[in-house]
Amino acid sequence: MVETCSVCETRKPVVGVYALTSCYGCQLMIATVEKILQISEAVTFKSFHMLTSASSHGKVDIAFVEGSVSTEKDLIELKQIREDATVLVAIGACSIHGGVQSWDQGLRDYPEMYEKVYGNGEIAYEGLAAKPIDHYVKVDHYLPGCPPDEREIVYFLSTFLFGTYPERKERPVCHECRLAGNPCILIEKGEMCLGSVTTSGCNALCIGFGIPCIGCRGPTPYDTASFDALAKEFKRLGKTREEVLDRLSIFGSHDRRMRQMVEKAYGGEK
Ligand code: SF4
Ligand code: SF4
Ligand code: SF4
Repeated sequence: MVETCSVCETRKPVVGVYALTSCYGCQLMIATVEKILQISEAVTFKSFHMLTSASSHGKVDIAFVEGSVSTEKDLIELKQIREDATVLVAIGACSIHGGVQSWDQGLRDYPEMYEKVYGNGEIAYEGLAAKPIDHYVKVDHYLPGCPPDEREIVYFLSTFLFGTYPERKERPVCHECRLAGNPCILIEKGEMCLGSVTTSGCNALCIGFGIPCIGCRGPTPYDTASFDALAKEFKRLGKTREEVLDRLSIFGSHDRRMRQMVEKAYGGEK
């Protein structure tokens, strides 16, 4: 929680928005929030390259960090950001779950992949297998999505401005999907939808367009029977172990429950 701010105390909160290895989509989403100009008046952006060329490192009340740790340089920068920030918020799938750059985590050999992509050519930094930032530093809050939803960004910023903190969403996407009145494409069409094990907050966006959820908001934060039940359902639908693992790994490769649910349903089967 911010201890002093323009609303409850004496000064504007100082905010930094930083990128590690990412597509910059999360920061772009923050920079294009409709009320960003009003927000800019309520906070001091010390670092936010998309908004101000005067960005610099240093002490901040709140640091928003997008991107996974995928290089030694990312790791050094992340540790400095953590040291400088009172509150650290991981934003987006890359930062929270390792992102699509973690898709092959545990499925393929990292040094082998690295060599295939970069060969023996010299590059300016040492690569690391992509990991979520909380693998290395303490994270205070998680703002999920790929990218996060505008309303949720405003909600997070508002709670900090009012001296409180954002609540974590716990219900699965299925909850919002049913409220939206969508037909269930898992049950009706046999699509590999991950809505039952994915954190809500997007109003079942993809299903509204007839596309199955691939889990970009990350696994729900608690253990439920849904994980085992979903793997069994995929198996019943004739999906192979590899197909299921591949789908679950897009955004969930660092979550042990994903592998466990596959192992329970398939064991060593292909
Ligand atoms: S979470 Fe998605 S939008 Fe955000 S940086 Fe990663 S890939 Fe880009
Ligand atoms: S499984 Fe997918 S389509 Fe079915 S209710 Fe859940 S989110 Fe909606
Ligand atoms: S439906 Fe799933 S994949 Fe689509 S935005 Fe929501 S969480 Fe992400």
